[in-house]
Amino acid sequence: MKKSDLVEISKAYGLSPNKKLGQNFLVSDEFAERIIAASEIQRSDSVLEIGPGFGALTERLAVAAGSVTAVEIDSGLARYLKEKFQSFQNVEIVHGDFLKYSPAVRFTRIVSNLPYYCSSEIIFRIAADYEGCDAFLMLQKEMARRLVSSPGTPSYGALTVTAGFYFKAELLFNVGKGSFHPSPDVNSSFMAFRRKVPAFAGIEAVLFHKIVKSAFWGRRKTILTSLSESPHMDVPRNDVSEVLGSCGIGHKLRGEDLGLDDFIRLAAAFKNHGGKRNNGAS
Ligand code: SAM
Repeated sequence: MKKSDLVEISKAYGLSPNKKLGQNFLVSDEFAERIIAASEIQRSDSVLEIGPGFGALTERLAVAAGSVTAVEIDSGLARYLKEKFQSFQNVEIVHGDFLKYSPAVRFTRIVSNLPYYCSSEIIFRIAADYEGCDAFLMLQKEMARRLVSSPGTPSYGALTVTAGFYFKAELLFNVGKGSFHPSPDVNSSFMAFRRKVPAFAGIEAVLFHKIVKSAFWGRRKTILTSLSESPHMDVPRNDVSEVLGSCGIGHKLRGEDLGLDDFIRLAAAFKNHGGKRNNGAS
């Protein structure tokens, strides 16, 4: 979709971009094509698109995939899209908030140029509710960097580790501000989130999330202090020390020095320790 088409449709439907809803629409056909090609869509795919906007990706998705369900929060845009796609047998437009959406069908792939004000909530919603589904998402470049960063670097944090538990995240390409209208304040990156089989579920997964939050809550503190003083856990310092020792993790390291595998080992070790001592970690 070109900027001039977008301006014309907006006028005809009395629409104007809502900044609060992250409405920066893609106006580059070149990048729309690249997004579809990079999303590895098969004819057998049932695709969920989050925030279709004016449909810059939706029509291309409908051509490439078996079916597309597009969830749009903005009532004016949803009205426009329902008219535009009424003759498409394989496109369903849903007017609603993705964060409150309960899908009736199982999707095989999610594609979205995300609204940046709620990108991390959307990623964690996908992780929790769309098991087995790969996602191809446009994100703020800064956030993309955090998602693919390595331990010991400034952008590495709880987001990196938590997303890494569910997905193998890969930065595919960057997109400049000029490819959107209105032009956002930030640059963007298109990323693949390929599902992993999680290391565990249930109580160990709950522990894993508490440990990650605690480790980065006390970012400047040693791992021993941040885990034993964390508001997210209730484990005496001596017990934390014992668990760290059993995992071969030095007390003086910091959360930012630990890799995903260290956090996974810690969750398993705290679970064993909790079983023995019935402490507050679980
Ligand atoms: N896909 C379109 C494109 O590439 O031009 C629009 C992308 S724009 C960055 C984000 C879209 O998400 C907007 O259409 C916005 O109204 C919609 N949106 C924002 N929050 C949403 C939510 N919670 N659920 C569904 N759609 C949402």
